[in-house]
Amino acid sequence: MKASFKLFRIFGITIGIHYTWIFAVIFFSWTLAMVYFPAYYPGWSTAVYWITGVIGALLIFVSVLLHEMAHSLVANARGIPVHSITLFLLGGASNMEEEPQKPAAEFAMAIVGPLTSLVLAAIFWGFSKLPADATTPLAAMLSYMALINMYLGIFNLLPGFPLDGGRVLRSIIWGYTGNLTKATDIAGMVGQIFGWAFIGLGIFLMISVSFVSGLWIAFIGWFLNSSADASRKEITLRERLSHIKVRELMDSSVSTISPETTVEELVRDIFRKQQGRAVPVCRDGQLVGIATITDVKKVPQDKWAETPISRIMTGAPLYSVVPDDNLNKALVMIARNDINQVLINDNGKCGGLLSRADIIRLIQMNRELGLN
Ligand SMILES: [Zn+2]
Repeated sequence: MKASFKLFRIFGITIGIHYTWIFAVIFFSWTLAMVYFPAYYPGWSTAVYWITGVIGALLIFVSVLLHEMAHSLVANARGIPVHSITLFLLGGASNMEEEPQKPAAEFAMAIVGPLTSLVLAAIFWGFSKLPADATTPLAAMLSYMALINMYLGIFNLLPGFPLDGGRVLRSIIWGYTGNLTKATDIAGMVGQIFGWAFIGLGIFLMISVSFVSGLWIAFIGWFLNSSADASRKEITLRERLSHIKVRELMDSSVSTISPETTVEELVRDIFRKQQGRAVPVCRDGQLVGIATITDVKKVPQDKWAETPISRIMTGAPLYSVVPDDNLNKALVMIARNDINQVLINDNGKCGGLLSRADIIRLIQMNRELGLN
């Protein structure tokens, strides 16, 4: 998840917020100030309810952040780079660059988040017992933080993917069977079941107890259900793509151009006549770059005739695969580097492209024909 605003950097990790987070802070501040604290701690002034409510809402996200930091630090220690954490409507997300390669790494990364929350709950609970008067805003805040961290820990331990507990379950099945696809499918199925259960519970609460709380729980259930469903579909797709070689899909008849060609010639002879949006740039049979429609747009049209491709092309690092690589590897490379195509390095021969659109077309065709 991409952050809308960046806040600060800590341990090499950028902390950011997604705009939906603002709604969560408003919602929690309101609930705490108008519903929760007045119900349990009568007699404060309106201003005190609101100040305590807003601080409480912000502290919820400090708790979420500590939970996510724990995931990220363990991931980094295990060699899985996490460069950012985004806070959003439903909590936090550590933006991992890749999935763990070993069940043990996934287990450690997943379990440490809920454990951190439970330890925080115990610490806050201990501190909440210190003030002599348990009805002061400070004591109320401390016991509320104990409660919220306990919820965070327990909810995330539910064994449905993509919750932490679901990742723990997946790592265990993965460890026993050695089959990541099967493990994800089972843990995702459990995640979907929990999702449905939360939707059911939410609807029940909406009718019988509190419309807003019920709606919130139903929404969390819907989110859990759809992300579990998406994870199952994605892993099945990756599995299928990992059995197809780049060779089967690559277009070796693709044109190439030299760096001295002008932008005008590129547009006239290649982009207008052929379907592609990118072309490999080669000098003496060696790949030196790639020129795309996006690159062309950097130059005003009246300069096209005098601008050589070498001025606009994207040079190193060039992302490439070999014909024997599988499509999953190509797709991961495309997604991770936010590009539209990879070059194909066929025994040092210049030329060949594989685009995101090629892979999507194959997936759609296979689906239509009922092929795997
Ligand atoms: Zn977590």
